[in-house]
Amino acid sequence: AFEGLAERLQSTFDKMKGRGKVSEADVKEMMREVRLALLEADVNFKVVKKFVNDVKERAVGQEVMKSLTPGQQVIKVVNEELTTLMGGEESKIAASRKPPTVVMLAGLQGAGKTTTVAKVANHLRKHHNRKPLLAAADIYRPAAIDQLETLGKQLDMPVYSKGTEASPVDIAKGAVEEAKEANCDYVLIDTAGRLHVDEELMDELQQVREAVQPEEILLVIDSMTGQDAVNVAESFHEQLGVTGAILTKLDGDTRGGAALSVREVTGVPIKFAGTGEKIDEIDVFHPERMASRILGMGDMLSLIEKAETSVDDERAKELQKKMKSADLTFDDFLEQLEQVRNMGPLDDLLQMMPGANKKAMKNIQVDESQIGRVEAIVRSMTTHEKENPSVMNASRKRRIAKGSGTTIQDVNRLLKQFEDMKKMMKQMTGGNQKGKKKGKGG
Ligand code: GDP
Ligand code: MG
Repeated sequence: AFEGLAERLQSTFDKMKGRGKVSEADVKEMMREVRLALLEADVNFKVVKKFVNDVKERAVGQEVMKSLTPGQQVIKVVNEELTTLMGGEESKIAASRKPPTVVMLAGLQGAGKTTTVAKVANHLRKHHNRKPLLAAADIYRPAAIDQLETLGKQLDMPVYSKGTEASPVDIAKGAVEEAKEANCDYVLIDTAGRLHVDEELMDELQQVREAVQPEEILLVIDSMTGQDAVNVAESFHEQLGVTGAILTKLDGDTRGGAALSVREVTGVPIKFAGTGEKIDEIDVFHPERMASRILGMGDMLSLIEKAETSVDDERAKELQKKMKSADLTFDDFLEQLEQVRNMGPLDDLLQMMPGANKKAMKNIQVDESQIGRVEAIVRSMTTHEKENPSVMNASRKRRIAKGSGTTIQDVNRLLKQFEDMKKMMKQMTGGNQKGKKKGKGG
């Protein structure tokens, strides 16, 4: 439903091509588009303004990596800043040194608290071998208790509830006691919500917090909340001191700008992302993926990364030298073909590449059955031909076609693919010049 930022920026990209430095005017023009993309993704406008200014400062005057155009360079900076802003790394749920670890979930009504309690419990058991107990402390709607009990049954996990008569504080305390007895190492407390933040609710949540001193207070927030996410996060954080957030309903038609707002306002990490109604539809939150999603720029950068890691370092350097001097050989080509194939189905790769690159990629769409033919053609070349593609003429092509059991058209197609591959590899392997490869020389 959204037009990708990268597509929108394509004309700006093209204008910038071949320049060495990112100019202030370039950045200004691009940041206008970035600003729009963020607002469309429902990032709060104040957050957008601050972010755009930060990035402008960082991007102007940067040297442009050889592998990227200045436009892509700016996007890279934007992506990095967004990722950092959202916490950079994944963040785990805390574990108390004195179990049980108490985790309280809070948020507005309908945000997904009850569902998420079950999802997190399931995650803790499945991936961390934990034994959680669920506590039903939303006493205002009998249906909420039923809902949690049903989920508990489905998971075959204990649920502590005392109906609608007991106070949330007593329920929370009782649940912790019960967990100790039953040897459960996590207590996940489901709490009540309201349609809007109100004092009575906050009072109640504060009392629960005082009574059981949770290790984690996780704000559950609907990613469709949009601009209002800032206010919700601000109130909950001010009054409860949340330690993390969980973004729900990311499976819907949202770019997830709320993630940025929540993070910016509270400074706490986003720990999980809910991606559906089912119990296992939850993911550990990945800041970088979220950055790409918010920008809607395809996975251009992750594609570049993927290409970098997939192509062997040393070999890539060597190839790069060759490509610069335009003497890439057909043996190299075969090898590259294999490596591109190793990166995954070409269709996937195509999907990840926004804008102009698609054209270059189309011609090298190698279907698996073709690889064998390509190999045969290359093997029918003489060493001299392999190393000097420019010598190829009609009679050589005829000989090669015959020797490999293919046609002249096949040979021509391969030569065309070879040229396109050269172009593409120039774009993709150039990343090694960034000097950001880890661990070199210790
Ligand atoms: P609570 O009022 O905060 O406890 O919210 P619930 O857990 O009762 O969830 C409210 C509604 O949102 C339910 O219909 C859930 O199935 C739905 N829901 C919760 N999380 C997600 C999610 O990640 N994706 C989708 N699509 N629906 C969700
Ligand atoms: Mg609920």
